[in-house]
This record gives sequence, structure tokens and C-alpha cells, in this order.
Amino acid sequence: MDTEIPALLLKKNQDKRLRTGHCWIYSNEIDTEKTPLKGLQPGEQVAVVDDRELFIGFGYVNPHSLIAVRLMSRDQTHPISESLIVHRLNIALALRQRFYAQPYYRAVFGESDGLPGLIVDRYGDYLVLQLSTAGMEALRPAVLAAVDKVFKPKAILLRNDSSVRELEGLDRGVELAAGQMPERLELSEGGCRFRISPHDGQKTGWFFDQAANRDRLLPLVKERRVLDLFSYVGGWGVRCAAAGAEAVTCVDSSESALELVRENAAINGVEKTVDSLRGDAFEVVRQLKEANQRFDIVLVDPPAFIKRRKDQKQGELAYRRINQAAMQLLSRDGLLVSSSCSHHLGGDGLLSLINQAGRHLDRSLQLLMSGSQGPDHPIHPAIPETSYLKSFTLRVLPRF
Ligand code: SAH
Repeated sequence: MDTEIPALLLKKNQDKRLRTGHCWIYSNEIDTEKTPLKGLQPGEQVAVVDDRELFIGFGYVNPHSLIAVRLMSRDQTHPISESLIVHRLNIALALRQRFYAQPYYRAVFGESDGLPGLIVDRYGDYLVLQLSTAGMEALRPAVLAAVDKVFKPKAILLRNDSSVRELEGLDRGVELAAGQMPERLELSEGGCRFRISPHDGQKTGWFFDQAANRDRLLPLVKERRVLDLFSYVGGWGVRCAAAGAEAVTCVDSSESALELVRENAAINGVEKTVDSLRGDAFEVVRQLKEANQRFDIVLVDPPAFIKRRKDQKQGELAYRRINQAAMQLLSRDGLLVSSSCSHHLGGDGLLSLINQAGRHLDRSLQLLMSGSQGPDHPIHPAIPETSYLKSFTLRVLPRF
């Protein structure tokens, strides 16, 4: 083993989860009497060994985080380096090229692509990155060089403004790392064009994870009235309009998102079909109900209401309330398309909340389609944290 890389010894039996494929090591799993975490720099590379000193993998450490180590390589001959990152990026890219005809997708999805703490979203020649851990931050020069080699982008923007960086003791900000990043980027999804703002949009500007779920809904929207709650820049709504919906109402609390909804509707020639309504979705649904408005399809795709375990109860209540209100706005025999991106609420959990709402309103539900995150957000079977998106399409009928 490379003697320059400090070793961390695991306590007895703490290698089991790692051997199934998970890559996180919590601080209480490390034998800190023999190999103290103190003294290690956040982001520094370590070699993890089990209690019998058998090699497990190379990872990076953060002594100040609950997740003390994230493994990046299980090959003793390949410690973490720029060339390892290039290798991982090439493998990640090969997957996307197999699934996507055009270069618009999440090119790297952290742990699932063997690059914990790194997100790369691709908008053609432009890349928007998120480095969410001290280890990735320490690897920044290697990451940027590797990304440049593999993707040859015109520009790279670092959207390091996410709150998860605080858990790692990192500051937050948006930084241009290479080239010139335009105000607006354009992408295409399912034959529609979309403009997004990489500098101040949600996440990196677009939710690629729902693309396949949107595809599957479109055959059902022709001549239907659609309500798109939490529309953001119109991913669902504009695509529904382009697929022949009779009328689409996009609701969001953000004016800048709705501005882009209007722009996106216009560049797809459906500005007459798409309406934008600014407000708190919980309040707007109440007003729409009072005004006796009805829709054939209601889309509910909110931000994560359960970001941490402690939000569980409140968050579940919010999912139930918004889905219940959405159902009340449906015309007879309407469709509810309900999504959740909260990892802490599983598919069964969301379905059960929707069902409770249905029972409360005396409706019968039929689950027609279940979707998950697209293949550019692969799920690592051993890392449940990589699975987060649920999207259900339900038919809502009077009770039978
Ligand atoms: N459905 C979108 C993604 C939604 S992201 C897509 O597929 O692209 C969540 C959106 O909800 C953001 O645009 C945010 O501005 C909006 N939002 C958050 N809280 C809200 C609230 N209480 N009422 C209305 N919109 C809200």
C-alpha cells in the first residue's frame, strides 16, 4: 500500500455495509483509538482497512462530518487521482450516451457514478457542477481538469450554493470555473426547447430526473385541461401544451421561474395555451376550488418537503394536504400525477398518504403508472440514499 496515504482502521464488523457496496463510513465505525481522525485534514485521502487490517478502499475523509469517509476506489493499485476521475467520467458518459440521443442530462450523479459528492449536469457544451463535500472540494483542480478532458466544455459553472455544503464546513457560492457562461442555457427534451438560468435557477437550472416520467404522461394529455403545481420553468406544463393539451395553468411562487415558463411557452409556440399563476400552491389550490375551477389532470411536483428526518411529520402532512387539494380540483375521472423527491418518504409512504387523502374525499383511486428517477440518476442498490424520486399517475373516481 502507498505509505504516504494515512490508514484508517475500522472497528470489528463495521466493514459489512461497505462490502455490500455502500461507500459511506460514519465516525463511530472507525477505531479512533488506534487511528484517530483528529489531525486529518478535511478532504484528505485515506486508506480504509478492516479490523484485521485487510484493505477495503481509498476514500476521502472529513473529521468534522457525521459521514467521516466516502470511499472512491476499492482497487489497491488505484488511489484517488485525476486519472481515476477521468476513468469514472468516461464510464458515466458511456451510460448517458447509451440512453440519450442529445447531450442534455445529468452526466454525473455522485455516489452512484463512483464520484461521491460530485454532480455534473450537461447542457450541451456547457456544464454546471456541484461539489458538495470537503473531499470533492479538495479534488477541485483534478475534477476540473478531468471534466475538461472528457467533455471539452465551453464553460463550467460551479453551483456550490447548496445548503448541504454547510454540513461539511464549506462556504457557499456560485463560481465560474472556466470559459464564459451565458445568462440563459437552452436544452431540449422530448422535442421541446427549454431555456433555463444556470446562475440562479433551482439546483443547476433544470430537473432532468423527471424527463422519462414526462414522456410517459404526454399520450394522455391531448385536449385536456392541465394544472401544473410547482411548475418551476414549465418542464411538465409546456410539454403538455406542446403535446396538445387544451389549456395549461402553471403555478409557482417564484416570479423568475414563471418568467421562464412564459419564455419557454413562447419558443415552443404554445404561449396561447399556457397560463402562469404566481402564488403559494397551497393557497392557489384553495382559491381555484372556491372559484369552481376544474382540471382533467393535476400535476403535483413540489420541492422536497422532508429534507431531514426531523421534518418527517410536517412533511408528510404537507404531501397529504397538497394531494388532497389537488384531487378536489379534478374533474370526474381525472388524473393526479403526484411526485416526491424526498428520499425519506418511500414510494409506499407517498402512495399511502395519497390513498388517505382519497379516502377522506370519498374517492376511489387506481394507480396507473409508477415512475422513478431517469437513468441519468442511476440508483446504487447498496446505497438507498441514491434513490429519491417517485412519480405516480393515478385515476381519481367517485367512490365505488
Ligand atoms: N416540477 C418542476 C420542479 C419543481 S421544483 C419540474 O419538473 O421542473 C419546485 C418548485 O416549487 C420551485 O420552482 C419553487 O419555486 C416552487 N415552490 C416552492 N414552494 C412553493 C409553494 N409553496 N408554492 C408554489 N411554488 C413553490
